[in-house]
Amino acid sequence: MKGDFVILFVTFVLVIFLAAAELSHNMANDILNYMTIDVEDYYHVSAFEHVIGPGKWDSYNSRILENTAVILDLLDRQNVHATFFVLGWIAEKFPRLLKEIYNRGHEIGCHSYFHRLIYKLSPEEFKEDTRKAKDVLEQITGSPVMGYRAPSYSVTKNTLWALDILEELGFRYDSSIFPIIHDRYGIAGFPRFMYKFPDRSIIEYPLTTFLLFGVNLPVSGGGYFRLFPYFFTRMFLKKINRNEKQPFVFYLHPWEIDPDQPVIKGSGVMSRFRHYNNLKKTTGRFERLLKDFKFRPIIDNREERVKSQESGVRS
Ligand SMILES: [Zn+2]
Repeated sequence: MKGDFVILFVTFVLVIFLAAAELSHNMANDILNYMTIDVEDYYHVSAFEHVIGPGKWDSYNSRILENTAVILDLLDRQNVHATFFVLGWIAEKFPRLLKEIYNRGHEIGCHSYFHRLIYKLSPEEFKEDTRKAKDVLEQITGSPVMGYRAPSYSVTKNTLWALDILEELGFRYDSSIFPIIHDRYGIAGFPRFMYKFPDRSIIEYPLTTFLLFGVNLPVSGGGYFRLFPYFFTRMFLKKINRNEKQPFVFYLHPWEIDPDQPVIKGSGVMSRFRHYNNLKKTTGRFERLLKDFKFRPIIDNREERVKSQESGVRS
């Protein structure tokens, strides 16, 4: 919570100055950024986990089909392919949704099975949950899952062991480390862009931050995308592409475009603010983002898929 206030303070003080700087830079760029969608329902989020455990999930009205359909259509309209990190529980309950995402050309990644924070699990529990989710996803699409995103970015300094388990389970990359100071997640000081560890083969795609006077600001999705005006997000993302010549990793959840979702009672004020703030504005902003930047999935294997389908037909 303290981290949020620091970030808010720094960003609002500097936004006017930077907006002026932005006006002098208004050119398009060709960098392909990474679009990622974490497929979970409104009752799966970590902020509500003490109110709703997995045992109660079935008693909530799911809104995942409608919300994901809206995102799929928005992506189709701009001809964008993305990485969808799907919860194993969702895939098992809605296998046709998973097939639909895959058949529309998107990469399928893993967002765990039960959306439990890694630092609340033992290495054995983490391995079991991840293996189960990966198996479900692979059985439904018939295609290997290469990427992992932890529930609430819970790969922290204390849970780096999770990367070794991911490697053991055959994952090629992880996209879970947030290089910021935050009450629930983050590794302050972690590299801000794609990182190859010296002692591991798994590659990390950290959630993107903007470095402003020594502070990493989260500017590339989720609650931050909803909280700040769109021009603010656009300005920082453009600077990352143009000045640093780096792609950014953007992330969104299907419930973030759904202002009509039921309100979960019993969570703290900050959690409710983070979850429900500006839901009405997300769809419009997301559409603008898709027009203003170029995107790709983290691993784009569409060509390989076509080849394997063709060879399957021939044999
Ligand atoms: Zn999640």
